[in-house]
Amino acid sequence: MIRVRFAPSPTGNIHIGNVRIAFFNWLFAMQQSGQFILRYDDTDVERSKSEYVNGIAEDLEWLGIKPDKVYFQSKRVERYCKIAQKLIETGFLYPCYETLEELKLQRKIRLSNKLPPIYGREALKLTTEKKQAFEADGRRPYWRFLLPNFFNTPFEPQRTEVHWDDIVRGPQIIDLASISDPVLIRADGTYLYTLPSVVDDMDMGITHVIRGDDHITNTAVQISIFKALGDISTMPIFGHINLLTSVSGEGLSKRKGNLAICNLRKAGIEAIAIASLSVLIGTLENIEPYSTIRALVKHFDLSFASKSAAKFDLTELVNLNRRIIYKLTFTDVHKRLTEMGITGEKVKAFWLTVRENLHILADARDWWKIITDSNLHFISFSEVDRHFFYLAADLLPYEPWNRKTWQQWIERLKKESDRKGKALFKPLRLALTGCESGPKLADLLPLMGRRLVEKRLKTE
Ligand code: GLU
Repeated sequence: MIRVRFAPSPTGNIHIGNVRIAFFNWLFAMQQSGQFILRYDDTDVERSKSEYVNGIAEDLEWLGIKPDKVYFQSKRVERYCKIAQKLIETGFLYPCYETLEELKLQRKIRLSNKLPPIYGREALKLTTEKKQAFEADGRRPYWRFLLPNFFNTPFEPQRTEVHWDDIVRGPQIIDLASISDPVLIRADGTYLYTLPSVVDDMDMGITHVIRGDDHITNTAVQISIFKALGDISTMPIFGHINLLTSVSGEGLSKRKGNLAICNLRKAGIEAIAIASLSVLIGTLENIEPYSTIRALVKHFDLSFASKSAAKFDLTELVNLNRRIIYKLTFTDVHKRLTEMGITGEKVKAFWLTVRENLHILADARDWWKIITDSNLHFISFSEVDRHFFYLAADLLPYEPWNRKTWQQWIERLKKESDRKGKALFKPLRLALTGCESGPKLADLLPLMGRRLVEKRLKTE
């Protein structure tokens, strides 16, 4: 069975770029009748916060993503230690003691010797006495993974290609000689994400790792770790999705809150708008207003992701939201309207009248006030207008009102006043709704009723 995972670090609120990755995994799992695992990569104890864990859970639930299982890396440290021990015993993990300053210096020397600026494995040359001296000095070791990129001596790395057939990007090649041995364990004993991720993917039976293309180099390292652990049968298939950037091309960051899912939700953006756009953005596909995740699942293809960064534009999201709202039926929104206090027998007609004019669903509240609130009035009348509005009020047809009422009223008004066209319609719309544009007045009128319309025309 297909099993994928979404593995956020709970170090901030997730944004549209993060959920893009979540949706690629989720839609793929749904399409393949597979499982979706939520894994919190929370080995960085200082930056990981439970409030972000809760926030991520809430956001995913709101978006309609339901994990089959949830794991926390912080609860699996014992397991990572066991595996790390194995790597130490097989010589794949080695202790290092250099400070940042010392590393910088080593790098400078390498560059001046025309060597690539990667770690030169100086720590491998340390004698036991030297290591003991460092430790006596209070230095704690951190641990690097010895990349298998050499034949006879680790000090002469050779071109060593790691290949994989990326399910999104096609065949990939990374030369291990171009990468520094990665640090897997920090000096304080905590794990960086690289090793725990391999151990988890292995233990949890992950079949496909679908993640951002910022992890391509990591993949070469992690494939090497899988091999070092000796069980390549458990190695997942990898797929790398292009990341989103802002319109000006900057990467999205968890620290900049405006694109955080919780904020988009508060701003009234629909979950399905986020789902649709986060998946279809930067693809050749039309950005369609899908009304359900199910419809999106049917249409979805992993190859939607392209190789270059996709630019995310908030106006595009707001636009899509508007188109999605317009497509919502009364049944879709009935409950939500009720929760907003929009109730009664005219609600259905109200919805069908106003939905075309809403950017977010909450805008319906404003229109509801416009058609129901007799204390609202909008313009202060000039003497000329006052005369026109009083005339208009006097010419209002008797109830019952329907869609034809407007036409009857306007015909009378045209005959009795000297106005037509814009000079007639614009002030009426402004007096009745307070807006220069909006739903058809022919539809609004029967919703408002004669008493309210009369009051708006006559009140100053
Ligand atoms: N915690 C990593 C991240 O947020 C997960 C990467 C992966 O999916 O392996 O980028």
